[in-house]
Amino acid sequence: MHVIETPRAMQQLADQLRVEGKRIGFVPTMGAFHEGHLSLMRRSREENDISVVSIFVNPIQFDRQDDFETYPRDLTGDLKRAKEAGVDYVLAPSAEAMYPHGFQTFVKVGEIAKRWEGASRPGHFKGVTTAVTKLFHLVKPHRAYFGQKDYQQALVVKRMVADLSFDVEIRMMPTIREPDGLAMSSRNANLSPEERRAALYLYRSLQSAEEQVRSGEQDARRIVEGMKAILTQEPLVRLDYIAACHPETLEPLQRVEGPVLFAVAAFVGKTRLIDNCLV
Ligand code: AMP
Repeated sequence: MHVIETPRAMQQLADQLRVEGKRIGFVPTMGAFHEGHLSLMRRSREENDISVVSIFVNPIQFDRQDDFETYPRDLTGDLKRAKEAGVDYVLAPSAEAMYPHGFQTFVKVGEIAKRWEGASRPGHFKGVTTAVTKLFHLVKPHRAYFGQKDYQQALVVKRMVADLSFDVEIRMMPTIREPDGLAMSSRNANLSPEERRAALYLYRSLQSAEEQVRSGEQDARRIVEGMKAILTQEPLVRLDYIAACHPETLEPLQRVEGPVLFAVAAFVGKTRLIDNCLV
């Protein structure tokens, strides 16, 4: 496995791989790998000739400076795990290499990026789509892998790819969970033992929503109220939003008459967590 640090070197490599007729799979990440990341890497390895993973804690997608500063980083451990997962190349550029002096161009997706995470984290998706655009131009992948854990992010990237005719297939892969159900997240490393226990309430609220739908409840507002009742039981959880929405448009639903996405965002202590389930 090779580590590449400069955008130019990555582009030259991508050109060479494409000349050789290789199919390139790409997993963009912010590092501090867990099984969620590794599942994407393994899938990329299965479906492509060459797998590239980027590790870049993208400063322009953070809406809070403290979140950026406390974001877990573990390059040495990540390289070891990526190698074990069969990754061929790790792209680990510096912020200066990605955003050199004078940088002033951004990619901004419309309506679908405004709701939920977009409303709670101003500028977040603009930072994501700008970084992902750059990374796509460096890695030139045939396929790119995203986790359902960040469902809206995957949808926003899909929208961008369709609207701007990027020649890349976006694959959304299932959320990987801890044995007790907590969605794996790099930010979980920042939870105290009490907070770790409290964080499970996000999953519990989603499970209750799924149970309600399966038992025939169609009133989305009642389901959301039930989720809220669960989340507010735990004093360490400070709710940001609960969404019951259309899985493609992300518009809020009044009634459940087909597929529905339940999504939740909450602070557990100082750590902001998100999770979702598609029913
Ligand atoms: P991050 O490093 O958190 O930006 O995540 C990099 C990629 O891994 C994104 O596409 C995430 O959606 C995905 N990911 C993060 N957590 C999980 C998880 N628990 N299961 C599956 N994919 C995940």
